[in-house]
Amino acid sequence: MPGILTLTKAWVCEGRGSPLKLGEIELPPLKDNDIEISVKACGLCHSDLHLVDNDWGVTKYPFAPGHEIIGVVSSVGKNVVHTKTGDRVGVGWLSGCCGNCLHCLSGEENFCSHQEATCVGRSGGFAEKVRVNERLVFKIPEGISDEHAAPLLCGGVTVFSPLIRYKVAPLKKIAIVGLGGLGHLAVQFAKAFGCQVTVISTSSEKRYEAEQFGACEFLQFTDKQDLLKHRGKFDLILSTATADLPWMEFLGMLAPKGTVCVVGGKASTAHIPIAALIAGSKGVSGSNIGGHRMMENMLEFAAFHNIHPQIEIFPVSQINEAFDKLRKNEMRYRGVIRI
Ligand code: NAP
Ligand code: ZN
Repeated sequence: MPGILTLTKAWVCEGRGSPLKLGEIELPPLKDNDIEISVKACGLCHSDLHLVDNDWGVTKYPFAPGHEIIGVVSSVGKNVVHTKTGDRVGVGWLSGCCGNCLHCLSGEENFCSHQEATCVGRSGGFAEKVRVNERLVFKIPEGISDEHAAPLLCGGVTVFSPLIRYKVAPLKKIAIVGLGGLGHLAVQFAKAFGCQVTVISTSSEKRYEAEQFGACEFLQFTDKQDLLKHRGKFDLILSTATADLPWMEFLGMLAPKGTVCVVGGKASTAHIPIAALIAGSKGVSGSNIGGHRMMENMLEFAAFHNIHPQIEIFPVSQINEAFDKLRKNEMRYRGVIRI
């Protein structure tokens, strides 16, 4: 009931790198614009692992990770108008924002300075219930299962957004670095935009699946020398890798006016050779998730083009096995926890 504190079961990390344990957490009060969701499935994003390991220095323990949530609305605040009890909905990385700033009003809540992340400083979707702001809750198209929809809510929108921003078009040459949860969705999106897609991977055994997802070329690299053969080739290199890139070689692989856009990694410092940027009018950028407008566009685009993740489903009793698999880069390609 609104205003009353409620406990819910959750799978909680108590300290840096610790396995999750079943416990209870207090849900925040249900505010007037909030929705309470009974969680059915939640994707396991590498950001959850970064948070468990405190790779970004922002984690507050104890907390339940999880931010690719699909569930059913179990309660709504008194000002909620677009969603009702029983609706199937999804939530991604964002669960709160001011709703009034220029960014929120233009549907780019991911730039709001009062944004709240679903599992930073609070608990997320590896729990029986979550409460989030209505404007960051999304209706899920019919015809896609809870488990297949979940990874779109963070992984999907994160890689869709830069493809829109850089106006990718047929025949553009796009490289996706890292074929993991985000990377395998990025390949499918870029292919659906009509681009020539190359996967740049450290794992030779992913070649066949990269081609199945839509890549026309697979570059396996073990050291920088492997990359030097591809100078001047790509209009956009989208990096979803969890490790730093060898910047000189990656900038060398860009065509004139090309961009390396980074969405993945730990909080590291890059040494970027400025002369290499100037010479080819090249750019380096970052990108964070997407606001509600991008999310709705992505869900519609994915449904229309039949884009869905390749998943491994785990019962919640095996949540720590799923984290171990992700840590070892053995997930193919997104783990989804059934709650
Ligand atoms: P993931 O499933 O673990 O995939 C990451 C991929 O990175 C791996 O599959 C691997 O691909 C590659 N990789 C791993 N170790 C590497 C190394 N030492 N050198 C080069 N490549 C390596 O992770 P994910 O869930 O896709 O997330 C990827 C990154 O995006 C994470 O850092 C996550 O925090 C971040 N992320 C950012 C946003 C955002 O808004 N910017 C949103 C969601 C996630 P290969 O085996 O093919 O090399
Ligand atoms: Zn994520």
